[in-house]
Amino acid sequence: MNELQLIKGIGPKTIKYLNKLNIYNIEDLIHHFPFRYEVLNRSNILQAMQDEKVIIDGKIETKPVIIRYRGRQNRMSFRLMTSELLIQVNVYNRAFLVNHLLIGRYITVIGKWDKKHNTIIGNDIIFTKLSNEPLIIPIYHTTTGLNKKNLHNYIINTMEIYDNFNDYIPDYLVKENQFISKKEALINIHQPTNESLLKKAILRLKYEELFLYMLKINYLKDQNNEIDNKYIKKVNKEHVQKFIMKLPFKLTNDQIKVIDEIIDDMQQPKRMNRLIQGDVGSGKTIVSVIAIYMMYLCKYQSALMVPTEILARQHYQNIKQLFKDINIKVELLIGSLTKKEKDKIYTQLLNHEIDLIIGTHALIQENVEYHNLGLVITDEQHRFGVNQRLNLINKGIKPDVLYMSATPIPRTYALTIYGDLDISTIKTLPANRKEITTYLKKSQQIKEVLYLIKQELELGHQIYVVAPLIEESDNSDLSDIKKLEHQFNLAFGKLFKIEVLHGKLNSKEKEKIMQSFLDGNINILISTTVIEVGVDVPNATMMIIFDADRFGLSTIHQLRGRVGRSNLQSYCVLISDKEKERLNILTKTNDGFAISEADFKIRGQGDLFGYKQSGDIDFKIADFQKDFKILLKAKEDAKKFISKKLFEQYPLIKEKIETSIIIE
Ligand code: ADP
Ligand code: MG
Repeated sequence: MNELQLIKGIGPKTIKYLNKLNIYNIEDLIHHFPFRYEVLNRSNILQAMQDEKVIIDGKIETKPVIIRYRGRQNRMSFRLMTSELLIQVNVYNRAFLVNHLLIGRYITVIGKWDKKHNTIIGNDIIFTKLSNEPLIIPIYHTTTGLNKKNLHNYIINTMEIYDNFNDYIPDYLVKENQFISKKEALINIHQPTNESLLKKAILRLKYEELFLYMLKINYLKDQNNEIDNKYIKKVNKEHVQKFIMKLPFKLTNDQIKVIDEIIDDMQQPKRMNRLIQGDVGSGKTIVSVIAIYMMYLCKYQSALMVPTEILARQHYQNIKQLFKDINIKVELLIGSLTKKEKDKIYTQLLNHEIDLIIGTHALIQENVEYHNLGLVITDEQHRFGVNQRLNLINKGIKPDVLYMSATPIPRTYALTIYGDLDISTIKTLPANRKEITTYLKKSQQIKEVLYLIKQELELGHQIYVVAPLIEESDNSDLSDIKKLEHQFNLAFGKLFKIEVLHGKLNSKEKEKIMQSFLDGNINILISTTVIEVGVDVPNATMMIIFDADRFGLSTIHQLRGRVGRSNLQSYCVLISDKEKERLNILTKTNDGFAISEADFKIRGQGDLFGYKQSGDIDFKIADFQKDFKILLKAKEDAKKFISKKLFEQYPLIKEKIETSIIIE
C-alpha cells in the first residue's frame, strides 16, 4: 500500500492525480509548496454595506440545519457569534462540511453581506484560529481532477501525522540568522497565520535548500582539490597541432582558446574539472576529441559519456572518422550489446586494448574497470547533474573530467551554481554557419507554414515537427499528435515519408525511428520533445514547433539547434496564438546567452536546464535568480561549514549530503 493512503481523504484515485504532480509519498506532499498566496483583509461587520463581499470570523453558535434541493443542491444554515454581533450564515452546497461545523468552533466565512437580514450568504468556509490579521490563503499548483481545496486539505491532514522535522541548518546558523524552526516553517508555509511569519517560513526553507546545495557543491570542490604530481600530464603540443591541421575545418578562435585551457589544466598537479559551455552547434565535440587525442598521446584511456544510445552511436561514427588515420582504438558500450560483446569490451578496457570508450552513464556506473582511465567527458551535462560528478568520486577513480553543456547560463550564476568547476565558454559559431531564420506564426497561418515545409522538402531537406505532448494534460486545448500526423499525411504523405516519435514508444522503437531519420529515410519527423538533445542531422533544415508558448525560450533555442548544422540555410517556425512578445525574442536573436538572460528575467531559473531538468537543481522553493542573494549567503556559510570540518558534528547534515549522492 502506498503510504499516501494513510492520509485522511486520500484513496487510489487521488494518488494517481498526486503522482501527476510528482507526489509519490508523504514527504513529497509536505514539500508541495503553494506557488502564491492570496491575502484578504478581514471585514468589520458593523461597517459593511449591503451586498459587500466580507470575510468574517466567529464562533459557531448553533448546529447547522441542512435543506436539500433537487439536483444535489443544498443549503446549510447556522448562527455565528462574531466579535460584534450574532449573525446568520447561509452557505450553499457545502453540506459535506457539516461534521466539522461543531458548536464552539472558530471559523472564517467568506461571502456576501445581506445587511437587511443580518445574514452572510457564504461561499466559502475556512477553519482558522480567531485572528485580526488578514486572511492568507495558499494557492497550489494542481492538475485536472484534483480540486485545489482538497489538495490543501490533504496537506493539512498530512501535517497532523507528519513528524520528520529534520533541520538541515546547523544550530549556530539558525541562531545567527534568527531562523524559525523547521516545523514552524512547514506549518506556516501551508497554513500561514500572518504575513511576517509566512515570510520567515519562506526564507528559512529557501535558505535550507540553497545551503544544502552549496554544501554539496563545496564538498565536491574539496574532493577535487588534491594536489599531486601524478595528475600532471605532459602534452606534446606539436602533435596536437598536427592533428588540428588535418581536421576537415578550421577551428574557431573560441575552440582554440578552450583547447589551450584544457592543455593548461592537464599540466597542473591537480585534476582537471572543467565545464565547457557552448551554444548548440558551437562545436564542442571536436574540442573533446582533441582532449581525447591528448590523453592518447599521454597513454591514457578516455571515456565519453552521453545521455542516450543514439547520441553514443552518432559520436562513435563521427569520432572514428576523425581518428581514421590514427591508431586509436575506439569502442561503443551500450545496453543493446550482447553479454558476450560487453564482456569482450570489459576485458579490452582492462588490458588497455581500448583507448576511447563511448557510451551512456553505464560507463562509470557498472563495474567497468579501466587499465588507465585519464579522462571522463560528459556530454549534455545538464541531463546528468551534480550526482554524476559525485559518483565518479565515490568510485575512487580520479580521472580528469570535462563536462559539456549547451545550456548557456549567465556567468555570475554559472560561477555559483557550478562553483566546483572551472568554466570555459565557446561563444562564436563556426564561420560557415548561416543564422537560422525564425518565424512566429499564428495557428490560422498554417497554410503558409505548410507551404514553407513543401519548399524545403522539395529541396530534399528533412524536417522536424515538435508536436504538443501526447498526454492531454490539464485543460489546455493542445492539438493532438495523432491529428497532426493525419494532417501531415494528407498534405505530404503521398510523396514523403512521415514518422511519429513520442514518449510512449519503447527505447528500441525510438532508436529505430531516430536512426532512420539520421540515415535520411524519413523526411518529416513529428515528435514530442523526446527529440534527442545533441543529434546532428546536417540535412535537417526546418524545425516547426507547435504551441510554442508552452516552452521556455531556452528550450526552444535548444530545439531549434537541431537545425542549422551545415552550410544550408535553416528555418524555425514557431506556431502560437499567445505570448507574442516573449516568443518574438527568438525571431530576433540566435545568441543562446542573450536568450537565456531574457529567460532568466522572465521566468527565473524555471526553464534554464532545458526540457529535462537535472534532478538536483530542481528546487522546491528556491530560485537561483530571484534568490541569488540568499544563495550567496548560503554559499559563504557552506564554505565555512566545510573549512571548519563540521560534518562530524552534524551527522544529520552529513547523512543528507551523502544519501543525496547515492540516489542516482
Ligand atoms: P555542439 O556544440 O552542439 O555539440 P557539434 O560539436 O555537434 O556541436 O558541432 C556541430 C557541427 O559543426 C558538427 O557537424 C561539427 O563537425 C561542425 N563543426 C565543429 N567545429 C567546426 C568548425 N570550426 N568549422 C566548421 N564546422 C565545425
Ligand atoms: Mg553536442
